[in-house]
Amino acid sequence: MNNEQLWQAILGEIEVAVSRASFTTWFKQTFIGSFENGNIVICVPNVFTKAWLEKKYHTELINAFKNITKEPVIKIIYKIETKKEDPTAQVISYKKDKEKNEESGHQEIVSGFNFKPSTLNKFGLNTKYTFDSFIVGKNNKLAHAAALAVGKNPGVAYNPLVIYGGVGLGKTHLLQAIGNELSKKTDKILYVTSEKFTNDYINEVKSGRAKFLKDKYRNVDLLLIDDIQFLGGKDGTQEEFFHTFNELHQANKQIVVTCDRPLKTIPALEERLLSRLEWGMVADITLPDFETRIAILQNKCHERNYLMPEKIINYLAQNIQTNIRELEGALTKLITYFEFNDLSPDINVIRELLSDNLVSTQATQIGPLHIIEATGKYYNILSKDILGQSRKKELVKSRQIVMYLLREEVQLSFPSIGQELGNRDHTTVMHACRKIKQELEKNEKLLQEIESIKQIFKNI
Ligand code: ADP
Ligand code: MG
Repeated sequence: MNNEQLWQAILGEIEVAVSRASFTTWFKQTFIGSFENGNIVICVPNVFTKAWLEKKYHTELINAFKNITKEPVIKIIYKIETKKEDPTAQVISYKKDKEKNEESGHQEIVSGFNFKPSTLNKFGLNTKYTFDSFIVGKNNKLAHAAALAVGKNPGVAYNPLVIYGGVGLGKTHLLQAIGNELSKKTDKILYVTSEKFTNDYINEVKSGRAKFLKDKYRNVDLLLIDDIQFLGGKDGTQEEFFHTFNELHQANKQIVVTCDRPLKTIPALEERLLSRLEWGMVADITLPDFETRIAILQNKCHERNYLMPEKIINYLAQNIQTNIRELEGALTKLITYFEFNDLSPDINVIRELLSDNLVSTQATQIGPLHIIEATGKYYNILSKDILGQSRKKELVKSRQIVMYLLREEVQLSFPSIGQELGNRDHTTVMHACRKIKQELEKNEKLLQEIESIKQIFKNI
C-alpha cells in the first residue's frame, strides 16, 4: 500500500465516523507527507484545518492508522503544505463537483451555507474580480486609478500598464477587473499567466506550427499577462513576448501585466523588454493599512450577508497584516465554521482556532517573545538562558512558567510552545504545564509571581 492508498483507506474509516459535511470541510486537500516507523506527517492546506485535526480528529486518526496498518503509531505531525497544482484547479474542481452533484440531483455543502463559488467566464476571468468588489485604500490607490482609466480608455490611457506588488495584495484582482470591465465592449480579450505564455511558446517551437502564437496573441484588443516575473531568464519566450508587445502596442491595443516585484529586480529580463514595459504606467500595490483591512473584511461579510461582530473583524485585521488572501481566507473559514455549527460568532473560539498562525507572529500582540522577556525580567535572568539547555533549578522553573503562560495566555499548541523554546519536545511542555498548574493550587507565592509576570508582559 503506498501513502496515497493508505490515506484513502484511513479516510474511509474516518468518513463513516463523522458527518459528510464536516468530512468534506476538514479532509479536503489533505494527504500523507510521509509515514516512517510509526511517525506520520499529515499535510493539510491551512492552519485552520491543522488546528481542527489536532483538536478534534487526532484520536480518530491514530486509531484509524493503527487499525489499518496494524503498526503502533508513535507520533502524528500536521504540516501545512499543499500539493502543487494549477491555481485555477480549485475553482475548476469545485465546478466539476457541482456539476456532478447537479446531475445526481444532490446538493452538497462544500463550505458555508451562503458560499458562492467563484466562476470563471469564457476568458478565464474570475467573475468576482471586478472594480466594484475592489476596496481602494492608500496602498493601492494609484494602481486602482490606473486600472480604471485603462478600463475606460484601453490603448489610450496607459499602455502598457504594469501593476506590481507582494503576494496576495490584489494584483490579479485588478488585472482581471480590467478584463471583466472591457468584456462588456469586446470579445477579443486574452488573459494568461506568463507560464501559460511560456508553454504556448514552447509548444509552438516543438510542434513547428509557426502561426499559432501569432494568431492567438497578436489578434486581441486586450492582452493581460499575470506574474511576468516568470519570464526572467527565458530568452526565447521573452523574444516572442517582445514582438507580440510591439505589434499590439503599435496597433494601440492594450497590454496589462502584473509582477510580484519591481521590474528592474526581475533576474535576467532583457533590457529592451524592460524599457518597453516602462513606457506606460508602472503602479505598485503596497501593504494595506489597518482601515483598508477592516474595509475589505466588512465588504466580504457584506457580500456573504454575514453579520460579524466588530470585535472579531478588528481582531483579524490586527493579526493578519501582510496578505489579503490570508485575511480573506481566515474570515471565510470562520464564517464557515460558525454557520456550519450553528454558533454565533465568538471571539474566544477564534483565538483558539487561529492561534497558531496569528498570535505567535504578531509583535503588537502578546507573543512568545514578550512572555520570555517578562519572565526573564522578573527573575532577573537572560532570555537566552531561558531558551538554553542549562538544568539549573531557577532556569528550569522559569522555563516551565514560560511554557505555562504560553499555553494559558496565548493558547499556543504544545508542539508550538516546544518550538518557541528552543525546539523542545511537546511532552516536556505538557509536563511543565501540568506541573505549574498543580503547583499553583497550593503555592500562593508562585501564584503571585505569575501574576506579576503577567503585569510585566501586558505592559511591554
Ligand atoms: P495577488 O495577485 O497580488 O497575489 P490577488 O489579486 O489574488 O493577489 O488577491 C488575493 C485575494 O485578496 C483575492 O481574493 C482578492 O479578491 C482579494 N483582494 C486583494 N486586494 C483587495 C482589495 N483591495 N479589495 C478587495 N479584495 C481584495
Ligand atoms: Mg496573482
